[in-house]
Amino acid sequence: MSKKHFPFFLCLITIISNLHAQNIPENKKLVMASVDKHHQELINLSDSVWKFAEIALKETQSAKILADYAEKNGFNTRRGVAEMPSAFIAEYGSGKPIIAILGEFDALPGLSQKAQTTREALKIDAPGHGCGHNMFGAASLGAALAIKELIAAGKLKGTIRFYGTPAEEDIGGKIYMARAGLFNDVDVCLDWHPDSENKAGMQSSQSMVSYMVEFKGKSAHAAADPWNGRSALDAAEFFAHGINYLREHVHPSVRMHYVFKKAGDVPNVIPAEASVWIWLRDSKRSGVAAVEKRMREIAQGAAIMAGVESSVRLTSGDYELLVNETGAKALQANMELVGPISYTPEEINFANQIMKEYGSEPKGMNGAIKPLETTKEDPEGGSTDVGDVSYIVPEISLLATTAPFKAPWHSWVVVACGGMSIGHKGMLFAAKSLSATMVDLFENEKLRQDMRKEFDKRKGNEVWKAMLPDGPPPVPLQ
Ligand SMILES: [Zn+2]
Repeated sequence: MSKKHFPFFLCLITIISNLHAQNIPENKKLVMASVDKHHQELINLSDSVWKFAEIALKETQSAKILADYAEKNGFNTRRGVAEMPSAFIAEYGSGKPIIAILGEFDALPGLSQKAQTTREALKIDAPGHGCGHNMFGAASLGAALAIKELIAAGKLKGTIRFYGTPAEEDIGGKIYMARAGLFNDVDVCLDWHPDSENKAGMQSSQSMVSYMVEFKGKSAHAAADPWNGRSALDAAEFFAHGINYLREHVHPSVRMHYVFKKAGDVPNVIPAEASVWIWLRDSKRSGVAAVEKRMREIAQGAAIMAGVESSVRLTSGDYELLVNETGAKALQANMELVGPISYTPEEINFANQIMKEYGSEPKGMNGAIKPLETTKEDPEGGSTDVGDVSYIVPEISLLATTAPFKAPWHSWVVVACGGMSIGHKGMLFAAKSLSATMVDLFENEKLRQDMRKEFDKRKGNEVWKAMLPDGPPPVPLQ
């Protein structure tokens, strides 16, 4: 562009952006202004959770700082719900509709990292936020607070409810909260997740189930009297072979992965105990159920061959996410109202440098808003306990850019970007897009009804049942 035309161009931009601002409905302007007003507090919350970097079910400081902030801002809080000390609910308002928003805050082991472009742990061997959940909790709470302010001012009617949901990376805290019936009265639920693109969630996730397969045999001296022993490890190996042969006879959408948790201590003692931790996944819960049956039979067969006992213990499982296109369309319109995220040359340079350091091709930042996608027949790999919530209540999911384009997830790259301005910008974009969408959900009864109709249709006859062992969640002693 020539210099001569530059002032005219600037003028045009101003006119367009003023028109754009004028088209935003009053309540949406107010929620976006609320996020701007509280932006430093939200960044401080996110950065504090980033530094705490607490793993599943040990997120005591992270849950406390978020619940304290909610309480200080007038929310009623219920802490330690569903028998998990780090699970909480913060609520404001009364009556219907009840609009909910999820907030995660757990970190991943071993990923501690400073907010810089080279690999260096903040604390050696400590956890880090490689999935960006520090931003997830803070932005969702910021969106809830913006809505709370409108309810307090008499501009919206109903209840806003924030769910502090622990342990997404491990046992799936939401499944325990769902089993306790905590989502039963909700009209619509929203969530978001850090990503390398901005888009409304139109893809499902895989249903998965996690089992511990245990074998018990008899130990003996491996050279002196092996005929007196029965090796549990033999059974574990037979089991693994069986699973690997099963791969030929399952649908291509099925994933099976396992590790040996226990396989004996020394070669000269026949192992009396062995265990295999296995995850089974497919695009739908019904597909996983079929594979589960075969897996159990293989465990029994392996035990018979080795002359040992077997047991199969469920540890947890997620349903696939039920997409809600009606809700996604409403979100899409609001993301477009908020507008794309822009980055400074320093931020783009940071993104490119960190990708080079990691060994990936630098592709800059992508702050654009992606057009609404169509739902693929089979989701890409990965599961989430949001899937279980989406089987109880219509769900809207947002993805927001908090990392370089095509960044490797669950890596130190995501940790670094989540602790600096790239992450902060994505988080504020998420808070604005979600709160503006919630304005629609409070004001527009037809939107809620249409979402419910689509939910009923997609759910069909499937009855949600928590895939969890009996008893309380396995909360570790602090
Ligand atoms: Zn995550």
